[in-house]
Amino acid sequence: MVSGAAGLRAGSAASTGGHRGLEGLGAPRAGGGTERGLCLQVPELEKATVRIRQPERVRGIIRSLREQGVTKLQVISDFDMTLSRFGCNGRRCPTSHNILDNSHVISEDGKKKLKDLLHYYYPIEIDPNRTLEEKRPLMWWAGAGAEHGNTALCNGHSCSRDGFKEFFDQLHKNNVPLFIFSAGVGDILEEIIRQANVFYSNVSVVSNYMDFNDDGVLTHFKGPLIHTYNKNNSVLQGTGYFQQLSTRTSIILLGDSIGDLTMADGVPSVENILKIGFLNDKVEERRGKYLDSYDIVLESDETLDVVNGILRYILTET
Ligand SMILES: [Mg+2]
Repeated sequence: MVSGAAGLRAGSAASTGGHRGLEGLGAPRAGGGTERGLCLQVPELEKATVRIRQPERVRGIIRSLREQGVTKLQVISDFDMTLSRFGCNGRRCPTSHNILDNSHVISEDGKKKLKDLLHYYYPIEIDPNRTLEEKRPLMWWAGAGAEHGNTALCNGHSCSRDGFKEFFDQLHKNNVPLFIFSAGVGDILEEIIRQANVFYSNVSVVSNYMDFNDDGVLTHFKGPLIHTYNKNNSVLQGTGYFQQLSTRTSIILLGDSIGDLTMADGVPSVENILKIGFLNDKVEERRGKYLDSYDIVLESDETLDVVNGILRYILTET
């Protein structure tokens, strides 16, 4: 079959913010033609939420992932606002402020302190004019704190992206390891996964876990705190997780923040990596940066349709 290269318009749109949907990955349907390149296999890439800066490259990666096959594949994903939704029923998912206000496990004094921390640190965390090097030493609590609310108040299915169960099911059925690396609260996100009945044996979670005293009050988090800017090998040392999977050289990485891009840094030998980024907020402002960083950018897309479509294509027996 024809490759669909005629449809590639790389270069023309690259400088203006990436290709939209089908435009980059398949040939246009000019004259009612039937050739639509990769979009024929992954029709979800036609969605209007999809933006790709280098379509030809992305097409190559997806084909390689499929050629390498299921035994080479692993998925590394963020949780909050990546597998969970950014908005719920037309409203934004609750923020950390809500969870701190509503929480029964944190004392009033504790809530005030956390609020103060967030007011101070959150603007720094999202400041596009500061470098990662400037931010990293300051993020010891803010990253985790900001993510907590989103995980904690999103109960069960209501805040999982559409396609959540299918995503887990596909990976489980094909024995593809799924590594969830989260700066949120592990206890809570595990509960969300459990409630959806998809906490399968192929799922591993590294996150922040709460520790309570005898009165049931949250006293601290166990182990090194994971925040937005240390989601990399530095907190995985000693776990050996990626070493065990050293033959899994094909990676799909899912995230919603720039800090998520380092999640696969501990993988010993990466041959193919496809980075899919959810751009949930401040879309216009952040588009350029996301297109520079992620292979596929999903703008205000509350579903896992594109991810599931790509998985379906990769995991289908050839
Ligand atoms: Mg996130």
